[in-house]
Amino acid sequence: MSPETLLQAPIPISTEPSAFSPEQFDQVVMTTYGRFPITLDRGEGCRVWDTDGNAYLDCVAGIATCTLGHAHPALVKAVTQQIKKLHHVSNLYYIREQGQLAQWIVDNSCADRVFFCNSGAEANEAAIKLARKYAHDVQDIQYPVILTAKASFHGRTIATVTATGQEKYQKGFDPLLPGFAYVSYNDIEALEHAIGDIDEGNRRVGAIMLEPLQGEGGVRPGDLEYFLRVRKICDDNGLLLILDEVQVGMGRTGKLWGYENLGIEPDIFTSAKGLAGGIPIGAMMCKSSCDRFGPGNHASTFGGNPFACAAGLAVAETISAEGLLQNAQARGEQLRKTLRAITNQHPDLFVEVRGWGLINGIELNAEREITSIDLVKAAMDEGLLLVPAGPKVVRFVPPLIISAEEIEEAGTAFERAIAAVLA
Ligand code: PLP
Repeated sequence: MSPETLLQAPIPISTEPSAFSPEQFDQVVMTTYGRFPITLDRGEGCRVWDTDGNAYLDCVAGIATCTLGHAHPALVKAVTQQIKKLHHVSNLYYIREQGQLAQWIVDNSCADRVFFCNSGAEANEAAIKLARKYAHDVQDIQYPVILTAKASFHGRTIATVTATGQEKYQKGFDPLLPGFAYVSYNDIEALEHAIGDIDEGNRRVGAIMLEPLQGEGGVRPGDLEYFLRVRKICDDNGLLLILDEVQVGMGRTGKLWGYENLGIEPDIFTSAKGLAGGIPIGAMMCKSSCDRFGPGNHASTFGGNPFACAAGLAVAETISAEGLLQNAQARGEQLRKTLRAITNQHPDLFVEVRGWGLINGIELNAEREITSIDLVKAAMDEGLLLVPAGPKVVRFVPPLIISAEEIEEAGTAFERAIAAVLA
């Protein structure tokens, strides 16, 4: 488009349902997602509406992100006030809201320090960089290796996709980053062997990076015994334990942080998704003993700006004011009970229900042709939004404000979806 025509082109912003079709969208937006054929237009609480006026019960929540659901008054008030006052300034200056959110995290976790960025991948990038710096400065390792788990997911940047122990995400992006090796999740022997095997003078394991519960890898909770042993191995060998809490942190599991389900504390952990309830934010937390960053070592233009941090503070306050950890525990139990009853009714279709708090998955029988996408599509037709976690697991990650009646509604809509798929 020439500069003259560019000036004349109408700006395509309209609230008309027909204003922007999926076909038009795919012409101009890269097809990095396989998208479902609906356009969501507005939301309130746990409910969203598409541009044709159809309502859905949202058990996706932007994939475990809209902690307070949609249009929550506390979030609306916080971001409205903040944008009128000061939305962005450089990290060259002190930012009050950033300091307040960091203080809240420090007061409510095992961390002493926080670095803010804008997404989960960026938070994990920061953790990887910090672990490498620690390896050089403290562990005296010239070529540090970070052990991660098979079936893990840590993001899409080149470092985090390398950290991700799944070939399907790495295919086509060689050369990947050196300095990573993979072990089976919840398998302590595999971990011990890897630490022993990767020991060639200058090349040694410096850190272990794990999800407390593997989200994208099929909603697989970490095993308590395994994590206790991992912590001890790290302590005995001077290794750093990094936990990726991007999907499970900020109350999702019914505890504020996923590691609280495992009876251990990490040296470094990351958060993003639910931290500001859907306003982009990421954070990397660490104990002061492993903070090796000084001015110029790491940075982010947007990281920790007043707008995102005001949203994070509103989410933090609301989790406490509305008892959302307790709600996540109670509603999670209710949901697992409902899904287990459904599994018992269809023993040849489903094999297991897994999860903590409000991150739950129901696994389909590998022998059956029905996939998680088939069920997600059928559920959408029944007014329920769900999200796959791999080809055979259907994931339920609703807002933490979901009510008992809405969980019941999700259960009955899911039953109708199953009937439709089996028909
Ligand atoms: N880590 C985990 C455990 C995740 O689940 C995700 C996203 O699904 C990421 C990292 C990447 O986060 P983002 O998409 O915000 O970069």
